[in-house]
Amino acid sequence: MLRAPILYLSRRRSLQRIITAMPLTARVAYRFVAGDRLDDAVAAVRRINQFGSSASLDHLGENVSQERAARAAAEDYLRGFERIAAEGLDANVSIKLTQLGLDISPVLCQELLVGILRRAAELGNFVRIDMEGSAYTERTLELALAMHARYPNCGVVLQSYLYRTAADVERMNQAGMRVRLVKGAYDEPAAIAYPRKADVDDSFRRAMQALLRQGNYPAIATHDEGLISETIAFAAAQGIGSDRFEFQLLYGIRRDLQERLTGLGFRVRIYVPYGTEWYPYLTRRLAERPANLIFFVGSVLRERRARR
Ligand SMILES: Cc1cc2nc3c(=O)[nH]c(=O)nc-3n(C[C@H](O)[C@H](O)[C@H](O)COP(=O)(O)OP(=O)(O)OC[C@H]3O[C@@H](n4cnc5c(N)ncnc54)[C@H](O)[C@@H]3O)c2cc1C
Repeated sequence: MLRAPILYLSRRRSLQRIITAMPLTARVAYRFVAGDRLDDAVAAVRRINQFGSSASLDHLGENVSQERAARAAAEDYLRGFERIAAEGLDANVSIKLTQLGLDISPVLCQELLVGILRRAAELGNFVRIDMEGSAYTERTLELALAMHARYPNCGVVLQSYLYRTAADVERMNQAGMRVRLVKGAYDEPAAIAYPRKADVDDSFRRAMQALLRQGNYPAIATHDEGLISETIAFAAAQGIGSDRFEFQLLYGIRRDLQERLTGLGFRVRIYVPYGTEWYPYLTRRLAERPANLIFFVGSVLRERRARR
C-alpha cells in the first residue's frame, strides 16, 4: 500500500535536498550504501571477497540532466575499473543509462557507454546495465543488444513484474546476452506490470527456468528464499552445474543468506552501491519493506527531537 507513495517521493528533488542534509538519515542510508567514496566501496568489496563472494560496484546516480555530470559519471566508472584491476578485486560494475545522459541525448549516452565497455574489455571485466523505469526498457535493451554485438562483455537486467519480460527473456537468450533477473523496483501501472505479488513471483519463476535452460550465465537476483530454493532445485533437476549461474543480493540485505549460499558452494555476487546520490536508491529499498520505513521514520523523529 505504501510502495507507490514512497516511490513517488523518490522522484521529488526538493525532498531529496532536505532528507539528504539530515546526518541521521544519511546514517540510515549507510545501512544499504557502502559509503561516499570509491575507497569505501573498495573496502566493502575486499570484505565481500574475503567471505568468498564477488561484487558489482554501482556508483550511485541516475537521471542526470547535464552533460558534464554524465561525463563525470563515466570517468568515475573508468576509475572504478582501474582500482578493481590494481587491487585484484573480484568485482565488475553496474551502470544506469540515465546516469550516462540517456535523458539528455542517446548519442552522448552511447558514446560514454562505448568508452566504458572498451576499457572493461581491455581489462577483462564486465558491465551490467541496470534496468530503470519502464520508460527506458526498450531503449535500454536496444542499446544493450547493439553494444553486445561489438562488446560481449555486457549484460542487462530484466524485471519479472513486466508483462513483456517472457518475450524479452527469449530475445536475450537468442542473442546470448547475460541477464540479471529481478522482480522490479519501480512503480509501474497495471497496464504493463503485474499488480499482484503472486503473479510477479510466477513470472520470476518462469523467467528463471528459461534463463537457466537457455540463457548465458544468468544472475538470479532476489532475497526471496522460496524462489532461491526453487532455483537450486530446478538447476539440480536439470543437471545445471552451480558454475553456470550466480545468485545476486544487495549490499546490507540478508547477510545470512549470502553466507548460507556461499557455504553451499553457490556463486554469490553482492551489489555494492556507493556515492552521495543515495536518495532514490534508499527510497526504493524503503518501499520494498515496511520494516525499513519504520526504522527510517524512527531515526528522523529522533533526530528532530535531538535538535529541539
Ligand atoms: C543484485 C540486485 C540488483 C538489482 N538490480 C535492479 C535493477 O537493475 N532494476 C530494478 O528494477 N530492480 C533491481 N533490483 C531490485 C529488485 O527489483 C527488487 O526490488 C528487490 O530485490 C526486492 O525484491 P526481492 O526479489 O528481494 O523479493 P521480495 O519478495 O521483495 O523480498 C523477499 C525478502 O527479501 C528481503 N528483502 C527484500 N527487500 C528488502 C529490503 N529492501 N530490505 C530488507 N530486506 C529486504 C525480505 O526478507 C523479504 O521478505 C535488484 C536487486 C538485486 C538483488
